Amino acid sequence: MARRGLLALLLAGLAAAARGEAAAPQVVAIDAGHGGVDQGAVIRGRVEKKVVLDISEKIAARLSRGKTLVPFLTRRTDVFVPLSDRVLNAEAAGGRAFVSIHVDKVYGRKGRGAILYVYGANRRMPDGPARGPEERILPSPPQSQIARSKVLAESLRAALKAEGIKTVRYVDLGGFAVLKSSVMPSVILEVGNLRDEREAVQMCRPEFQERLARAVARGLERFLAPAATRARE
Ligand SMILES: [Zn+2]
Repeated sequence: MARRGLLALLLAGLAAAARGEAAAPQVVAIDAGHGGVDQGAVIRGRVEKKVVLDISEKIAARLSRGKTLVPFLTRRTDVFVPLSDRVLNAEAAGGRAFVSIHVDKVYGRKGRGAILYVYGANRRMPDGPARGPEERILPSPPQSQIARSKVLAESLRAALKAEGIKTVRYVDLGGFAVLKSSVMPSVILEVGNLRDEREAVQMCRPEFQERLARAVARGLERFLAPAATRARE
């Protein structure tokens, strides 16, 4: 059913392109992790909530320059938005895909590069911090949705590689709350490791952030608007 829906969408897009019409722009949610009291990872004065907001704003700016996608930022300032609200607000905004931006601070994995997650059980992953009463527990997404999330993750991974940005060779699984939409393919992009000094310096540099933003925008366009992307290339 999902595959048929996708095919119909693709055919409609191709038909519109053949008629020379521009398809209506599609909304994509860009989620800057953490915010407010939740700082995320902090290493040597570099603060995750700030780095990921800078990157998310650049992705949004990049998307706004294209004609096919419209960004929806789950937060625009240094505030904490409950995780379930990030998903539900993005769904209410008509989001067609959800990309959550994070950085991590793991030991012993230097030079690893960016890693992409889709929803799934992962015993290696510790439980997250306790959640406030405002959090709603969303059901796990259906398998068909997780499969689409994997396609999105691979599209982003290919686009990052094409920009010369190092990525882990596989898409990982995690039981993260922001990956639980049942209607939007959803991924987390962990840009790099704050404990790796080289990656930490790199992820804070505006030129790198621009390159990353260009890759994410391209990966999203290829996934959601392949006909329009091909017409431009
Ligand atoms: Zn994080």
